[in-house]
Amino acid sequence: MVVEDVSYHRHFRSVPIRFAIEELKFLRSIKDLRNFYNKLKIVVPRVIGTFETYYKAPPILHIEPTNVCNADCICCPVSRSTRPRGHMEFSLFQKIIDEASKIGVNSIFLFLHGEPMLHAKIIEMLRYIKMNGLSFHLTTNGIPFNEKKIRGILRSGVDNGDHVSFSIQGASEEVHDHIVGRKSYVKVVNNLHLFLELRRELNINGPIIETVHYIMPENQHETQKYLQNWTGIVDHVRLSGEISQSFSE
Ligand code: SF4
Repeated sequence: MVVEDVSYHRHFRSVPIRFAIEELKFLRSIKDLRNFYNKLKIVVPRVIGTFETYYKAPPILHIEPTNVCNADCICCPVSRSTRPRGHMEFSLFQKIIDEASKIGVNSIFLFLHGEPMLHAKIIEMLRYIKMNGLSFHLTTNGIPFNEKKIRGILRSGVDNGDHVSFSIQGASEEVHDHIVGRKSYVKVVNNLHLFLELRRELNINGPIIETVHYIMPENQHETQKYLQNWTGIVDHVRLSGEISQSFSE
């Protein structure tokens, strides 16, 4: 039996309003205001369904730096995918970013079915995105981090147009580790706190740091606790419906 989670639907309906309110606190300069406006230009047409009318080029481009992953989430098709495994060549990545910035893409989303932080050149990739005036959204399982990598991200030219999402799948260690298929909750939470601490230390206005939680039968009983755990700690707490199954075969 699938129990309808009322809090999820309430949360989803209020996403654009929450988005605006939560991101307003990042506005400190004209550049921040421009980033905020760029995000609204993407979010509002998505919510009201007029996306295609306004955009000649896609405002967001998804790039999968790697389809290798160090987890095996029960909700994710990564382990059953028969696509050859590999890491994207940095030269190909540069070519895509060069073209994307020319045609008017705003933002690069760095995830699909793989853990982007496993790519040896991920920090260079982020730097290249920023050098080209684009923003990024990195979603990670939060495992392959250390202080050097975190400082690398924070020094890649980030601002409040950028997002880093830590995928945390339960309010408890037991539920998270069960869903992710490996013992990782404590490491992920520690890495997230270190990320927040180093951002504070460097006094950088960005990236926006959020947790993302895919609601499923195995964790829906913990959704309220999850919101309590992370609200006020990270900049956003995002509840999501399901992981994309695109290109999963
Ligand atoms: S959801 Fe993310 S972390 Fe989990 S197996 Fe899929 S790609 Fe890896």
